[in-house]
Amino acid sequence: MSPKKQKVVAFGECMIELRTAGHGLMRQSFAGDTLNTCIYLARLADGAYGVDYATAIGDGDPYSEGMLAAWTDEGIGNGLALRRQGELPGLYAISVDDTGERSFHYWRRDAAVRRYFDAPSTPLERQIGDIDLFYVSGISLAILPPAGRDRLLAAMAAVKAAGGRVVFDNNYRPKLWASAEEALEVYRRAYALADIALVTLGDEIEVLGGIGEADAIETICGYPCPEIVIKRGSAPVLLCLAGKERGEVAVEPVARVVDTTAAGDSFGAGYLAARLRGMAPTEAAATGSRLAATVIQHPGAIIPLAAMPKLF
Ligand code: ADP
Repeated sequence: MSPKKQKVVAFGECMIELRTAGHGLMRQSFAGDTLNTCIYLARLADGAYGVDYATAIGDGDPYSEGMLAAWTDEGIGNGLALRRQGELPGLYAISVDDTGERSFHYWRRDAAVRRYFDAPSTPLERQIGDIDLFYVSGISLAILPPAGRDRLLAAMAAVKAAGGRVVFDNNYRPKLWASAEEALEVYRRAYALADIALVTLGDEIEVLGGIGEADAIETICGYPCPEIVIKRGSAPVLLCLAGKERGEVAVEPVARVVDTTAAGDSFGAGYLAARLRGMAPTEAAATGSRLAATVIQHPGAIIPLAAMPKLF
């Protein structure tokens, strides 16, 4: 009998993306940090595991339907997606000025996903026992009201208690938090539950209140998480394992970076796809870096399927 396929679940927000396409035109797609990671994870699965995306969308509008179809096309399961009548997904626009500098504008305060946990019981919470790897980011926590945050943290604890692994990626968007202190308090709880922490150093420095890099690394390595992966752009990835063992994994610098969108999201997918195959953290960090290096040589968060590198 073949072993049971592992189940990977991410909770987060997928938004409608509008990108300037010249002369008053906008190109529309769908994106969001956790969804980007799910798409790359699904592309790298090759039968080793299945991926489901837990979120909330509207009920019957063309954008919610389009999102669902886009995930399904990428091989992501939608059994944990909740439909909320009369609501819509969030939206963001990327504008590009004359110098090529991009800026992001969000309409997400009313997004359906903010009320995912308004129901007394959700599809995610009902399937906790089936989850082998549960992926949550700082944005997943930031978009929820306090009661929803508590429910998501409780779901993380429940996955862990049931023998699954919890992954926390620290993606920090200050505008989504009342203050850095509020974020820090919630991040502390998330790190304490995480089996694997994927930490962007620059983001964590902001959460920690602008301390120096060396101090931030010491602080991060002291978090109560057995597998901490610190990403630092083109600088080597740092690993802090079991609270003591430290390691560095070199990153092959990319000479011509086109667009760094989803560098961290794709790194996370490569890292986790390798760990789900039983590879060691050092090999996993090299795998994550190889995928991220390809992604940043293409425009946008999601590269064409044909451009995916062969990683396994
Ligand atoms: P985030 O997107 O979360 O801000 P980083 O900028 O730290 O994350 O990048 C995540 C990963 O992407 C890095 O660990 C590295 O593997 C890869 N990466 C980012 N920038 C470069 C670069 N200039 N050259 C090569 N790899 C890069």
